[in-house]
Amino acid sequence: MKIVVLPGDGIGPETMAVAVAVLETAAQRFNLDLTLEHDLAGHASLKVHGATVTEDLLAKVLPADGLMLGPMSTYDFKDESKGEINPSKFFRKRLDLFANIRPARTFPGIPTISRPFELVVVRENTEGFYADRNVESGNSEILVTPDVAISLRRITRACCERVARSAFEIAMQRRRRLTLVHKHNVLKITDGIFLDACHRVGKDFPEVEVDDEIVDAMMAHVVRNPARFDVIVTTNMFGDILSDLTAELSGSLGLGGSLNAGANHAMGQAAHGSAPDIASQDLANPFSQVVSAAMLLAWLSQRSGHAQYLLASRAIETAMEQCIAEQQVTRDIGGRLGTRAVGQALVRCLREA
Ligand code: ATP
Repeated sequence: MKIVVLPGDGIGPETMAVAVAVLETAAQRFNLDLTLEHDLAGHASLKVHGATVTEDLLAKVLPADGLMLGPMSTYDFKDESKGEINPSKFFRKRLDLFANIRPARTFPGIPTISRPFELVVVRENTEGFYADRNVESGNSEILVTPDVAISLRRITRACCERVARSAFEIAMQRRRRLTLVHKHNVLKITDGIFLDACHRVGKDFPEVEVDDEIVDAMMAHVVRNPARFDVIVTTNMFGDILSDLTAELSGSLGLGGSLNAGANHAMGQAAHGSAPDIASQDLANPFSQVVSAAMLLAWLSQRSGHAQYLLASRAIETAMEQCIAEQQVTRDIGGRLGTRAVGQALVRCLREA
């Protein structure tokens, strides 16, 4: 198997270095036939190639089995004509990674304001309120006059159905409960299509218990009692916001791993941004990137039928749990270690796993 590794911007090189060490250790420990191919995206690529991502890079990624993408300085990339392309959007669109799977759970040993919970947010990744994703060319945010602007949200039945199917499949492997999150009381037509598509797909999964919540009420329910939820499926922007909340409720945004998955490709990517405020200070929590790597291995296992990849994925999670239990963690989750030291502790736990 070949995984392309792109460290990204801000804290990306620090957290990705840990994810790479963990993947290499897992490959040794579980005899995985795994090659990591390193390349550039974001500011590093802009400097060398004149663009944050290139068609040459895509040509390397397309035949690979998976991609690890670090966080990107999306705010800095404003002008595509100058090569400033949003790499997350680029890969999500070009690899058709329609489901963004964002697990969140509490761990004994990490202080939280919330009671224990374990849930997964499945976020639609290819349309919704994302101006750069909605249209073939151009942008779906329109400045009508200097003081009047319009933003369009695209919702299609096909995109809703495929993300709903992913969510039902995940629910089948878990506690078989799925919550549909929407704003149907206001966005009657678009969220009407979303709800209808989810219920139609649900007919193929009669074992899954389905309920739905309006997105604003959902925020309150998740804060009050996150243990109530198992799998949550929602449109793009609601999922973006909700999954930051669930990651932070679990202890820190630095725990938020994610997998962007499509029919033929998958990309592990931390749910947070490039955190420029803590970049290059050995402060970043690498667990988000490590969880994303573990999720990618599990996806590769499911796709290829190689059980070793799933064992490796589970061993990485166990190593993380051990580090947390031993307080070998970064400051954002109550520890005293730096990013590098957490990486060393993780590798040691994984070797012993
Ligand atoms: P971007 O513009 O790339 O989205 P941002 O700073 O606006 O970056 P995030 O990167 O998501 O948004 O960061 C939000 C907050 O969470 C920051 O204060 C950051 O320090 C913190 N944070 C994010 N990721 C981590 C991490 N891995 N470890 C520790 N803290 C983190």
